[in-house]
Amino acid sequence: MLTVEKVWRPKDLYDAWSIHQTYKDASCFVSGGTWLRTQWKGGLRHISPHLISLDQIHDMDKIEEKNTSDRSELLIGSMTKLADCIKHPLLNKYGSAIVEACKRIAAPSIRNQGTIGGNILTKTGDSLPALLIHDATLTWFNGKEFENESLEVYLSNAKYKEVNGVYHPKILVSIAIPLIKNKPQNRFSFYQKVGKREAFTPSIITIAGTGNFAANKQIGTCLLAAGGGTSVPFRLTSTELALENNDLTKDFLQHIQSVIYRELQREDSTISEYKKKVTANLIVYHLFSSLKNL
Ligand SMILES: Cc1cc2nc3c(=O)[nH]c(=O)nc-3n(C[C@H](O)[C@H](O)[C@H](O)COP(=O)(O)OP(=O)(O)OC[C@H]3O[C@@H](n4cnc5c(N)ncnc54)[C@H](O)[C@@H]3O)c2cc1C
Repeated sequence: MLTVEKVWRPKDLYDAWSIHQTYKDASCFVSGGTWLRTQWKGGLRHISPHLISLDQIHDMDKIEEKNTSDRSELLIGSMTKLADCIKHPLLNKYGSAIVEACKRIAAPSIRNQGTIGGNILTKTGDSLPALLIHDATLTWFNGKEFENESLEVYLSNAKYKEVNGVYHPKILVSIAIPLIKNKPQNRFSFYQKVGKREAFTPSIITIAGTGNFAANKQIGTCLLAAGGGTSVPFRLTSTELALENNDLTKDFLQHIQSVIYRELQREDSTISEYKKKVTANLIVYHLFSSLKNL
């Protein structure tokens, strides 16, 4: 059995990268180590002899607003602990679905150690549907420069790669979500995780949605995402288009249920009948409740 030879604690990204370049596949980046630990314990992944802990790198655990002439965004450092995401006033103000998602991940002891970056890189983490509906962008460090990639593109590529034990060739530095300062009226947002028990269990289904209703109560823009279990989460773009500028009548919602069902089938043929039905029902339920709560 392989054992750890060294835990490296580089002070900056360049050092972290250079250690990784030296030991390549024999090394592994570690944020909180909570997911890695379960993989090692479960025999799903061997312990890399060189663990590169990112906890000494400055400024990777901050949440701050960044304003430029053409856009405003919230930057979430990849090393931000899930517990800190829950408490942060800016994230509560602009990303309530993300806060809700973090609250539903594991128990407090794990949330004090596990990070949002680590959750994203498991590719099935419960924060992902919430980040998808906030149109999140990932910033990576590739050894030379910083690269931006939309979370949606990252996850859709990830679907075609092995999920567990996947090797991350870049360092995730931060996550950006665009800030909507003048929120349209009648805005709605929802997040729900369905597990086997009420608390601290892996999800079976996770859904998230946001959007707004026009003055005539027709649904305007809408972003929806689904995941859960071992599924890599994805946006429900066909359903989003089908919903736009429509009245949420009983007949129309029944039609939307079948649109969601078909989209789930197309996106991930491994999803069970039960999961497809429950996911479609939950999304329709939340859309209808959002309209009723106007
Ligand atoms: C008891 C228990 C319950 C749990 N319940 C849930 C749950 O309900 N929902 C859920 O989503 N998860 C759950 N988890 C999994 C895990 O705790 C969370 O997903 C957590 O957010 C992972 O973050 P981490 O910092 O510990 O990641 P780590 O374990 O440090 O890393 C995860 C992966 O990302 C890579 N990595 C980490 N940081 C970087 C980086 N910056 N750049 C490149 N690669 C990097 C690592 O090499 C590894 O492959 C649970 C875990 C435990 C032990």
